Amino acid sequence: MESIKCLIIGGGPAGYTAAIYAARAAMAPVLYEGNQPGGQLTTTTVVENFPGFPGGVDANTLMTQMRSQAAGLGADIRRGNIVKADFSSHPLKLFTDRKEELLADTVIIATGATAKYLGLPSEEKFKGMGVSACATCDGFFYRKTDVAVVGGGDTACEEATYLASLCRKVYMIVRRDVFRASDAMQKKVLETPNIEVLWNCNTQEVLGDASGVTGVRLLRKDGTVFDIAVDGFFLAIGHHPNSELFKEWVETDEQGYIVTKGKTTQTNVPGVFAAGDVQDPDYRQAVAAAASGCKAAIDAKIFLK
Ligand code: NDP
Repeated sequence: MESIKCLIIGGGPAGYTAAIYAARAAMAPVLYEGNQPGGQLTTTTVVENFPGFPGGVDANTLMTQMRSQAAGLGADIRRGNIVKADFSSHPLKLFTDRKEELLADTVIIATGATAKYLGLPSEEKFKGMGVSACATCDGFFYRKTDVAVVGGGDTACEEATYLASLCRKVYMIVRRDVFRASDAMQKKVLETPNIEVLWNCNTQEVLGDASGVTGVRLLRKDGTVFDIAVDGFFLAIGHHPNSELFKEWVETDEQGYIVTKGKTTQTNVPGVFAAGDVQDPDYRQAVAAAASGCKAAIDAKIFLK
């Protein structure tokens, strides 16, 4: 059994930033990176909106640098997963996929969220080559082209209006004949001249070639199959916060996002903090996740005192 002062779960911007701060605060952090070291950002290419990189930065490079910075400051970064948590007593108990038992004084949950995809093989094939689940991250690369957004919720409407400011034309692919989004967001979409809503449509296939996405094949509810030509295909059908492991102990909202107290990262369990997308249904940006990782390390330091 290993005793740890500060255990960080998750190797995305929130986890690595928490590790940087915790290492500098002499908390001897141990970070488990999980299955996707680098987090969601590694599914994109160039990041142009992370401050400090005027020419943009390759997403994998950015995450590797954050990791090296944390390791260089003394964080113990480990490959592997936490597979079970027991927060019924303090110190907090956690179990790894190698069946090791860890006893932690503080835990920072930074397990992120996973964008939902449709599950089509063609969508998988063109991920990062025209298929994206983040218009704010990747929209800029499709300036003055035609793109499609799948979904009819607030995210889809927000992403479609954002893309409409950059792109020539935005198709919204909506599977029913109504939006799920709020009235205000719907109004905004319907008043934007270069957005065309394709109601009652489901995506059959993402079309493309060696250069990436070239179009989408759609099936309308009346049985009509038709193609649209687009360079970008954006999914906006929701996210899953990766909080399942902790739900027995930590309070989550109706969508599964971990609830934190006020401006802090403190959960309902003393000594357990949450940072990044696992507790943030709204902003979902790398820089916002990094900032909350910083807050979690500071909150954990105060708790240890
Ligand atoms: P939602 O769950 O609200 O909407 C998902 C949308 O995707 C729905 O239109 C849904 O269709 C559609 N969808 C789901 N699965 C599929 C599929 N397999 N194929 C095609 N379409 C599919 O998710 P959001 O991410 O939009 O929003 C999450 C939460 O965050 C909401 O509470 C939202 O209000 C909130 N939010 C608020 C914002 C704001 O206030 N500014 C901005 C963004 C989000 P259907 O309706 O048929 O189920």
